[in-house]
Amino acid sequence: MRDLLMIPGPVEFEPEVLQALGAPTLSHTDPAFIAVFGRALKRLREVCLAPSAQPFVVSGSGTLAMELAVANLVEPGDAALVVNTGYFSDRMAKILERHGALVTHVRAPPGDVPSLDAVETHLSKGGFKVLSVTHVDTSTGVLAPAEALVRAARKHGVLSVVDGVCATAAETFRQDAWEADVYLTASQKAVGVPPGLALLTVGPRAMEAWRKRKTPVASVYADFAEWLPIMEAYEAGKPAYFATPPVNLVAALDVSLGQILAEGMDARFARHQRMARAFRAAWKAMGLRLLPASDAVAANTLSAVYYPDGMDAALVGGVKGQGVVVAGGLHPDLKTRYFRVGHMNRVGPADVLSTVGALERALIAAGHRSEPGAAVAAAQASLIAG
Ligand code: PMP
Repeated sequence: MRDLLMIPGPVEFEPEVLQALGAPTLSHTDPAFIAVFGRALKRLREVCLAPSAQPFVVSGSGTLAMELAVANLVEPGDAALVVNTGYFSDRMAKILERHGALVTHVRAPPGDVPSLDAVETHLSKGGFKVLSVTHVDTSTGVLAPAEALVRAARKHGVLSVVDGVCATAAETFRQDAWEADVYLTASQKAVGVPPGLALLTVGPRAMEAWRKRKTPVASVYADFAEWLPIMEAYEAGKPAYFATPPVNLVAALDVSLGQILAEGMDARFARHQRMARAFRAAWKAMGLRLLPASDAVAANTLSAVYYPDGMDAALVGGVKGQGVVVAGGLHPDLKTRYFRVGHMNRVGPADVLSTVGALERALIAAGHRSEPGAAVAAAQASLIAG
C-alpha cells in the first residue's frame, strides 16, 4: 500500500503531471515541445505574478536556482546582506561567498526572523549590492516577511533575491507589485512537479545588473548569457540549443503550472493558509509546540513541531507505520528535537485529517497522553470554520 507523502518536498503530485512525465519523449526541436516550453515560460511568469520578469527553466535542483541567481548578479568584492533564518540562508551565504561576495548576516535565533529594524540598520550603512531572503526556511518552518524585506532593499537601491523553493505557488508572493528582483524556486514542492527543475523569474533591474557586469560569470552552465537566448527562442516559438532541456519535466511543468493558474493564485495561497491553520489547531490539541516562535512567523507550507518530552526521531518511523511519511528535523542545532510535516501543492482536507490521525495514533502508541481523536477533531473544526 502506498504511503501518503507529507514531507517538505518532494510532495504528492497530480496524476496528470505524472502522466506528462511518462509520455513518450519528444525531440527538443519538435514543434509540439516548442509550444509546450514556450507556454510553460509564460505560465511561470504568471504564477510568480511577475509580468516584467525574464523566466528561466533549467535542469537542476533548487540549489542550482540559488547558484544561477548569485553567479549572474554577484561579482567578486560585492557586498551581500543575508537575512538569515536558518539552514538554507546559510547555504545562500556559502554560494555568495564562493562567488566572491562579502557576506554580512542578520541573524535571529532558530525559529524566528530578524527584525525589520535590524535589516534596515544594515541597509542604511550602504554599500550592499544584494539582499537575500529565504521566504520559508524549510529547516525550521519559519516564514520571513518577504514583502517588507524586498521593499526595504528596493528603498536602499539593493537588489533582492528571494529563495522561494519552499514557498512558490503556496505562500503569497507578488514579484512585480512588491518590486522583488529575483525569485528563485524548484519544481518539487508547491510548484507540483517531481525534482529536477531550477526555476527563476528575474526582474528588469537584475537583468540590467547582469548586463553591466565587468567580469564574466564564473560558470558556463550557470551563465544567463547561455540561457537567455534559449528562453527567448522557445517563448518566441523557435527551437534553440545550449544544453539538452529536460523535455519530460518541462512538459510536466507546463501541466502543473496550468493547474495552478486554473485554481488561481489567491485561491491557492488561501488554501495553503487554511490547511496550515488546521494543522496548527491539531498540534495545539495534541499539546505539541511549534518550532517557529509565533504563528505570525509560521510557514503555511510546512509545520516544524517539537517532539513531546521523552520522544525522538523514532516517532517519524511510527508515523510511517501508520501510512504517512513525515520528516525529521534539519536545523543543525535542533535536528534531533523536532519533526516536519509538509503541506504543499495538492494538499487538502483529506490529507490533513489522514496525517493528523496517523500522528495521533503513533504518538499514543509511543505513550503520549492525549485523547484519541482530539487532534483530528481540532483540525476538523478548523477546516469547518474555513
Ligand atoms: N532553499 C530552500 C528553502 C529549500 O527548502 C531547499 C530544499 N529543501 C533548497 C533551497 C535547495 O533545493 P534543492 O534541494 O532542490 O537543491
